[in-house]
Amino acid sequence: MPIRTSYPLVVAVGLDKSVLKRQWLKNNIAILFPNILLLLTVVLLGRLMLKQFRKTLEHRQELLLARDELTRANLTLRDLALIDGLTGLGNRRQFDICLEQSLARASLTGEPVSLIMCDIDFFKSYNDSRGHVAGDECLKRVADILKYLPRRSTDIVARYGGEEFALILPATDIEAAEQLAQRILATIRQAALPHHASLLPEKIITLSAGISTSITGSDALTLKQSADAALYTAKRSGRNCIVSAWDRIS
Ligand code: GH3
Ligand code: MG
Ligand code: MG
Repeated sequence: MPIRTSYPLVVAVGLDKSVLKRQWLKNNIAILFPNILLLLTVVLLGRLMLKQFRKTLEHRQELLLARDELTRANLTLRDLALIDGLTGLGNRRQFDICLEQSLARASLTGEPVSLIMCDIDFFKSYNDSRGHVAGDECLKRVADILKYLPRRSTDIVARYGGEEFALILPATDIEAAEQLAQRILATIRQAALPHHASLLPEKIITLSAGISTSITGSDALTLKQSADAALYTAKRSGRNCIVSAWDRIS
């Protein structure tokens, strides 16, 4: 019996790689260039956008810095507008704002607000005898004493004008205000700043003070007028003393 052997027939077909590449190029050359061009355009546009984005970020950063600087400058300006240049105390503007605010708060809480107005005695003759530069120094010394005198953190000290100082004392009744005024006058006397032209026998800088206290509904003007009237009574009573007045406006 004949032996039959069957071998599988294997057919391998191959194509030359370079031929394939050439063929592919031939077929696609028409769209290849526009695609490359498109790709380059996209890359270019991307780079441009990135550059623009970086610039925008930089501008934003600069803008934020400028805004911070402006805010700082505004705060400094606002502070300067409220501070007396000579003494560093609050000025008349700050005094007026704080008094209005204190009275508005007091009208809600029902607590009293006291006002002490102080005036240096015979200050004109101090200037006349020692000159305005020495007068300025004296004002600074008095202001420092008022500034650093231990008192409530809510109290406000201001230079009302000239040689007049004012203290706004929220939640303070007339007795407590009188005690503080006594301490102020005593501390000024203890400082013993020489004032040879004073008509008082001690020949030192002294203060006179007028006090008024609000009750609910009192307005700033009445409180100021009342303290001022008390101050002038203190002046007429011989100076270096305190006079208080009740302010009962509703
Ligand atoms: P009285 O005891 O009645 O208060 O008399 P006085 O002399 O203190 O009051 P008067 O109002 O007659 O004079 C106030 C003086 O304060 C006159 C003014 O030259 C002086 N004065 C006001 N502001 C300043 C200032 O900023 N510096 C100096 N050196 N003097 C000032
Ligand atoms: Mg005066
Ligand atoms: Mg005076």
